Amino acid sequence: MAASYTLRMKRLINLWIAIAAFLLISIGGTAAQPRSGEVAVQPKQVLFLHSYGQNFEPWVVWSRETRNELIRQSPWPLDIQEHSVVTARNDDSTAEAKFVEYLDALYAQRPPDLIVAFGGPAARFVQQHRADLYPTTPMLLAAVEVRRVDPSMLSDQDAVVGVRYDQNALTENVLRLLPETKTIVLIIGNSPAERSWIGEMQRTLGPLLENKAELIFYNERPFEEVLKAVANLPPHSAIFFQQMMVDGAGAVYGDKEPMKRIFEVANAPIFTYDWSRVDDGVQVVGGPMFSPAEAARPTAAVAVRILEGEKASGIKVPPIEFSAPKYDWRQLQRWNISESRLPPGSEILFREPTAWERYSWQIALTLAVLLVQAGLISVLLLEHRRRRLAEVQSRQRMVELAHVNRFSTAGELTASISHEINQPLGAILANAETAAAILESQSPDVAVLPDIVELKTIVNDIVRDDRRASEVVRRMRSLLKKAPFELKNVDLNDVVRETLAFLSSLAVGQKFELTSLLTQNALPVRADRIQLQQVILNLVVNGIDAMKGNPTEDRIIRIQTSRVDGFAELSVSDRGPGIAEDKLKEIFEPFFTTKQEGMGMGLCIAQTIIESHSGRISAESHASGAVFRVRLPLA
Ligand code: ADP
Repeated sequence: MAASYTLRMKRLINLWIAIAAFLLISIGGTAAQPRSGEVAVQPKQVLFLHSYGQNFEPWVVWSRETRNELIRQSPWPLDIQEHSVVTARNDDSTAEAKFVEYLDALYAQRPPDLIVAFGGPAARFVQQHRADLYPTTPMLLAAVEVRRVDPSMLSDQDAVVGVRYDQNALTENVLRLLPETKTIVLIIGNSPAERSWIGEMQRTLGPLLENKAELIFYNERPFEEVLKAVANLPPHSAIFFQQMMVDGAGAVYGDKEPMKRIFEVANAPIFTYDWSRVDDGVQVVGGPMFSPAEAARPTAAVAVRILEGEKASGIKVPPIEFSAPKYDWRQLQRWNISESRLPPGSEILFREPTAWERYSWQIALTLAVLLVQAGLISVLLLEHRRRRLAEVQSRQRMVELAHVNRFSTAGELTASISHEINQPLGAILANAETAAAILESQSPDVAVLPDIVELKTIVNDIVRDDRRASEVVRRMRSLLKKAPFELKNVDLNDVVRETLAFLSSLAVGQKFELTSLLTQNALPVRADRIQLQQVILNLVVNGIDAMKGNPTEDRIIRIQTSRVDGFAELSVSDRGPGIAEDKLKEIFEPFFTTKQEGMGMGLCIAQTIIESHSGRISAESHASGAVFRVRLPLA
């Protein structure tokens, strides 16, 4: 009986062993081969707890940077969920208890792998409710001022990456940059957490500011009044923007708006402690400040270590300090803060590039162009000087040549001139002889009336003829005078009249008729009188030459003046054979002549003279003869 019992027991034990082995093998086999579709690595569940609200500054930036950094550093997929300790705005303990219940309920199935609390209020919340909030889940207190962390309330599961908020360093920075500061307005809100800061700041800053500057808080004022106040601060004021969650009237802010609006109206420079506050609409002077991007790296590193299983309380990292001082160049300019006041090693941001940095190649190009241009200008100036010198010399030559030409013209006119002088001289002689005969036929003391009358007429004739002769000589001398080129205001008609007077006496001897038609009004031009006379004389002498073959009654030279489009025009026409069409230009060339004893310089000189008067001379040929036209600009 006992043997069979023992045997039955042995069989039963063997059966149990076989079942157990089977179960073990099947469990082991299942674990070794995951079914298809099963997730190999479960995401780590991380809970972010924000102070006040998810978008509150500056934690919104701190949490965003930490989140990005955590995703970058984490070897596992992450499921980050975010909640806000809204109750921190008003310290409503009943609501807070309900919030704890809510969080508990939310993660009852699967507690989070890690809780990260951002900012003082969230840190205080998790510390107070540590026992109720997933006591086994590790917690990381981030972006919290080290003074806000109660070490006695930290459990084994808690780690801290605190920040050291050094208000003294911030205030010293204000006084260093603006030593004249008399008033520091500290902008902070009126929520319980914010109010608790005020007392602490008064305590810490009191000794630093003593006798130097007054510290003012507007926490009890509605925000609109704060705006009015910062727009009308006394000289030597500075504004330190701490935060503005809840204003004196209970209105809740928290985003970038309050600082932006203060920046828009403030009449004093603004300082703050966190670079995340600065964006397109807000500028601060700068100084030692937190940089959330820099702070995110150690924070995320601690979070990863905890998720890896390291004991949270064993992780000790130094608190995050202000990053190296940085300053906004635009604000330094605006408030006239010299760069020499900045602490050594400071970085200057937003410096506007100098014109050279911005437009270096354009400036270089412009300079090069200017240099080339300057070179060209100096070459041109030199050239201009040389041309002027050449012009003066050529004018001098022209004057000399014209003078010679006048001599040659005078030479051509010798016959007429001698006739002009001989005629009055002959008349004088005849009259003198007559007078002598009268005087001889009468005894000198007997005065016979008819003879006296006769004698008077004779004497008058002598005087007239003498004047006529000396007038010819005077005109000749004035024409042959060697005078420098000189532009004066003259009436072209007057010049023509003078030349006519000179020529009319010759006209008789040369047997030609000289007619003229001058404008009634004067034709003022800037000209050298003698040279203009010479031009007219040359044209007339050429006309006389051209008409040599004409019957005496058909030797007519006509001089005419007119006013044409701002020019004074003079034309000299003759009744000669005219000029061949192809020679109309050539006749002005030097040494072009068709005359046996001609020099071919008369028209060339006339052209040079007219061009030096900024005028133009041209020739036309008609069936009736040649016409020369001279145009001079009216003065
Ligand atoms: P020159 O009188 O010494 O020949 P000019 O320069 O005065 O020199 O004249 C050049 C040439 O122009 C003359 O030889 C002549 O052939 C022609 N010429 C000038 N004036 C007239 C004119 N009024 N009629 C016809 N030909 C003329």
